[in-house]
This record gives sequence, structure tokens and C-alpha cells, in this order.
Amino acid sequence: MPSQPSDRRTGQPALGNVVPFPLGATLVLNVVASVALVSLWLLARSGATSSSVATDPICRMSVDTSAPAATRHVHGVDYYFCSPRCAERFDERGASGVGDPAGDTMGSV
Ligand SMILES: [Zn+2]
Repeated sequence: MPSQPSDRRTGQPALGNVVPFPLGATLVLNVVASVALVSLWLLARSGATSSSVATDPICRMSVDTSAPAATRHVHGVDYYFCSPRCAERFDERGASGVGDPAGDTMGSV
């Protein structure tokens, strides 16, 4: 339980235009606000990324599989790329070169 800042809720007259909620109502309002925020956040998340996210095998970026910049289908496996450039690199290497983490994808520009 977080410590309640009880001294701020003991009815200080400085906040004249703020309606002095009882502690219970404030708690309920906090819970309601939290639930609303979380549900909004979940709604935004589900709306933006309703599908799964794949990893670009070239640059290791996360790619939304519902709207990838480029895709390749090799040996029954779907690969998603953040950009056509990564797909071109994938074409150059072939699917066998994807699993090699020693690639100089970051250094060679
Ligand atoms: Zn990429």
C-alpha cells in the first residue's frame, strides 16, 4: 500500500475552487481514472498492432507483419523486413545467411 499524503487531504482552505472529495470518493476516482487509462492504452495498442510483430532478420528491427515494407517467402518461412533495402540484403545473402549474427549489418553503410 502506498503511503497516503493525508496532510493534503485534511481540508486545507487554500484550494478554494476544488471540491473537497471524501477520501473514499477520491480513491474511487483514482481507480476509475486508472482503469480508463489502461483500457484506452490497450485499445490504442490493439488498434495499432492487432497482428503480431516479426523481427527483421537483417537489422533485427521489429516489423509489423500486417504492414511490412517488404517480405520474402523462402523454404516455407515468411520473412518480414523494415525496408526494401533489408530485403535486398536478404536476397544477396540468401536465407542461409540470415542466422549468422556475425554479419556486418550495422557497420557497413
Ligand atoms: Zn531492416
